[in-house]
Amino acid sequence: MPGRGADQGPGRGRPARPRRRAEVGPWDGEADVVVVGYGVAGASAAAEAAAHGADVLVLEHTGGWGGAAAMAGGFIYLGGGTALQRACGFTDTPEAMHAYLSAAMGAGADADKLALYAERSVEHFDWLVDCGVPFRAAFFDRPGWEPDADQGLMYSGGENAHPFAELVPPAPRGHLPRMADKRTGERGGGWMLMRPLVATAEARGVRVRYDTRFEALVVEPDGRVGGVVARHYGAEIAVRARRAVVLATGSFAYDPAMVARHVPLLVGRPGAAVEQHDGQGLRAAQAVGADVAHLHACEAALLADPGLMARGIVVDALGRRVINEDTYPGRIGHALLSHHGSQGFVLADEEAVDAARADAGPLAFLIPPRPTWVGDDVDQLERESGIPCGALAATLALYNRHAERGEDPVHHKAARWVRPLRAPWGLFDVRGHTAGFPLGGLRTDVDGAVLDVDSAPIPGLRAAGRVAAGLSAGGYASGISLGEGGFFGRRAGRAAARDG
Ligand code: FAD
Repeated sequence: MPGRGADQGPGRGRPARPRRRAEVGPWDGEADVVVVGYGVAGASAAAEAAAHGADVLVLEHTGGWGGAAAMAGGFIYLGGGTALQRACGFTDTPEAMHAYLSAAMGAGADADKLALYAERSVEHFDWLVDCGVPFRAAFFDRPGWEPDADQGLMYSGGENAHPFAELVPPAPRGHLPRMADKRTGERGGGWMLMRPLVATAEARGVRVRYDTRFEALVVEPDGRVGGVVARHYGAEIAVRARRAVVLATGSFAYDPAMVARHVPLLVGRPGAAVEQHDGQGLRAAQAVGADVAHLHACEAALLADPGLMARGIVVDALGRRVINEDTYPGRIGHALLSHHGSQGFVLADEEAVDAARADAGPLAFLIPPRPTWVGDDVDQLERESGIPCGALAATLALYNRHAERGEDPVHHKAARWVRPLRAPWGLFDVRGHTAGFPLGGLRTDVDGAVLDVDSAPIPGLRAAGRVAAGLSAGGYASGISLGEGGFFGRRAGRAAARDG
């Protein structure tokens, strides 16, 4: 169930070419630091720039704060021994977190960012708490897209599953703001994160102009970025940035042309993004010479119940198992999408379905009321689903043969989840049920300076959040976006306050 059609993004393809200072009229407003976008990266940048003495103006396309972050489930990927990890009885170190990130984020990930993020993650958690983000010291010990209630900590990157569990001592790092009457959107984890961040920024004097859509950067005669051109209710306005512009406009998930060019796996399946993620910020920075990184990288969620998958097996259209099913479900989705054309099925038995449904709590809606096909006869399931005759039977026989001994030598699912699957079986059709968002973007340094193709910072321009390339070079864990958006957003804001 991918999101709505990728060709429906608002105002996609608007010109992003930079304006020379002489081309724009008198400034309609000014600030030391102009932050574009009021989601997690923008709010964090604004709050820190203001804390470091800057007069800050945020320009936000929509009529309110929050962006995708406020709609998010709320995982924030943090570790290294946060107070929440310790309160829940877990030991973690910056070294272990760094080792996990190095293994999980993909070849070519930015080494400086990985190292800094692991080293200062505890400090960022403490900063969030100081801003008023609430966390409940309770651990959710089951596979899931989210905890079933307001537990604050969960495994969110497959740290306790193959292959990471064998490489690095596992620690859960998915930190979730406490939410009352859990639901997506208002009162979801992302909203509980964003509300205090926005309150912090505004208590520090940050000004906001809503309904203002950034279009292009303004370049001074000396080549420095000196402001932005935006549209406010149809009228063009120009806003001067005395020190720096911080772009925090999110990803390009809703620019179908950019998706087709850079991350074609996601064509027609944007997910966990908002329509304002239309790539305008990225293109405007490219138009002043910005370099980009990891544009091929994407998060790809399989919209199925992780508890059901862990208890069953996930097979492709040829009946072959895909991955260890107890891992982070984003890894299952990514494996299915990148190597199997998003053509997947979940095979489970009655015991697995009942147990998954009992565990899923409010998220039980992820499990369809009944399997797509049910039966005692695998041949019949194959015929009905179109899996080649004998292929599913062979996979099931091999799985069960090892499962009798509580083992999975093929994909290394943890013994806790391994049990022979007995008739009657249910086969769930999850073909095409992947959706996701791009992870690549502008190439930046650890303080958000946007780098050009010669790796030189573009004066007056910083970026953070999904508009920039961050920790991921292809791998992902839930919480990386909200985590790095805040972490590197703060750094960008702090540095912007000193620019000029
Ligand atoms: P955003 O938070 O989206 O902020 C960008 C802001 O910029 C928006 O307010 C937007 O309106 C504004 N903007 C865009 N273009 C312009 C423009 N031209 N002019 C002015 N303003 C503009 N991530 C996690 O880490 N953990 C999760 O648990 C998680 N769950 C998710 C669940 C859902 C349902 C969704 C939708 C997303 C989820 N994500 C999650 C992803 C995460 O929310 C985003 O990747 C993250 O918010 C990106 O941060 P950002 O600051 O770059 O963008």
